[in-house]
Amino acid sequence: AAVLVKKLFLQGTMVTVNQDITYETAEEIALEFNFIVEPEVKIDVIEELLKEEEEDESKMVSRPPVICVMGHVDHGKTSLLDAIRKTHVTDKEAGGITQHIGAYVVSRGGQKITFLDTPGHEAFTSMRMRGANSTDIAILVVAADDGVMPQTVEAINHAKAAGIEIIVAVNKIDKPSANIERVKQELTEYELIAEDWGGSTIFVPVSAHTGEGIEQLLEMILLTAEMCELKANPKRTARGLVIEAELDKGKGPVATILVQKGTLRVGDPIAVGPCHGKVRAMVDDKGRRIKEAGPSTPVEILGLNDVPNAGEIFVVTENDKEARNFAETFISEGREKLLDDTKAKLSLDGLFSQ
Ligand code: GDP
Ligand code: MG
Repeated sequence: AAVLVKKLFLQGTMVTVNQDITYETAEEIALEFNFIVEPEVKIDVIEELLKEEEEDESKMVSRPPVICVMGHVDHGKTSLLDAIRKTHVTDKEAGGITQHIGAYVVSRGGQKITFLDTPGHEAFTSMRMRGANSTDIAILVVAADDGVMPQTVEAINHAKAAGIEIIVAVNKIDKPSANIERVKQELTEYELIAEDWGGSTIFVPVSAHTGEGIEQLLEMILLTAEMCELKANPKRTARGLVIEAELDKGKGPVATILVQKGTLRVGDPIAVGPCHGKVRAMVDDKGRRIKEAGPSTPVEILGLNDVPNAGEIFVVTENDKEARNFAETFISEGREKLLDDTKAKLSLDGLFSQ
C-alpha cells in the first residue's frame, strides 16, 4: 500500500491508504507494476443502476413520435430535415431558430413530431447497445435518381435490428432522371414492399427542394405513430438520453437530451453516465427558456459537471448525493461500454442525418 500511495503521490494524486481511487487510476497504476486490473461484474452493476420498475399502464398517456432520418450519403437527409423544419416553424418562432439543438419538434394539426437531427446516429446506436431505443420511426431516404446504395442497406439493417418502423421517403422526385418505381422494385429485395406492390411499407415520393410530398410524409408519420400507440408516463421522475453534448466556453457543459419518460424540471438532480449535476437551465428547440419538459421533448440543459457521451442514458435522482454516487459508480464500472460505443460510432459514420 505504501508503495502505491507513493507512486500515486508522485503522479500528482494525493490519497491515503483507505481512500477510493477511480477504476482508471487503478488500472494505470497496476500496469506500472505489470498487473492488469480486471473489473468485476462491471456491466451488471450499471444494468442494476439503470434497471426500472414496471410502468403502471393506467398512468401512461400518448406521446409524440421520435423520428430519425437515415439513408445513403447525398440522398438528401439534411435537405429533407431542413425542408420539414422550414415549412413547419411559424414566423414567430423563426427568430429563435438560429439556435441548433440537434433535435426539433414540429406541430401538425395540433400533433407533435420530434425529429432527431445531428448526430442522431450516435444516440441511436449506443442507445441500442443499452437495450433502449431513441427513435420510434426511421425515415429511410432514397434518392429517386440513384436508387438503393450500400448505406441504404446498412440503414435498413440497423432499423430492423432496432425493431423500429420504416417509412421510405423517395427523394429528389423533381429530377428528370427520377425513377420511383425502380426504387420500389429494388427495395423489395429487403422486404420493404410498397402497398401498390402488394406489401405494407409506406413509400412517400418527396422533393426536399420543391417541398412536394412533405405534408404527406408528415401525415404518414402521424398515422404510423398512431398505430404504434406510443405512450409514456409524464408523472414520474424523468429519464431519457443524450443526443449530443459539448463544452461551451461560457456556459460549461451543454447537453441536448431527449426526455423519454417523466417530466424533467429545472432544479432536478441528474446523472448521465459518468457525469452528474443539477438542471440549472433548460432551453427548447426554439431557443426558449423552459421550466419543464415532458416525454418526447428534446431540450438543451445546463448544469452538468462534465460533457456526457451521445447516447448515454440520463436519470433524475432523489438528491444530489445519489446523482454523484451514480456517476461515480459509472466511472468505476462503465469503461468497457464506453469503448464499445466508440467502436460502434466509428463504423456508423455518415449513415444517419448530419
Ligand atoms: P445527405 O448527405 O443525405 O444529408 O444529403 P444532402 O441533404 O446534403 O443533399 C445532397 C445533395 O442533394 C445536395 O446537393 C442537395 O441540394 C441535393 N438534394 C437534396 N434533396 C434534393 C431534392 O429533393 N431534389 C434535388 N434536385 N436535389 C436534392
Ligand atoms: Mg447530411
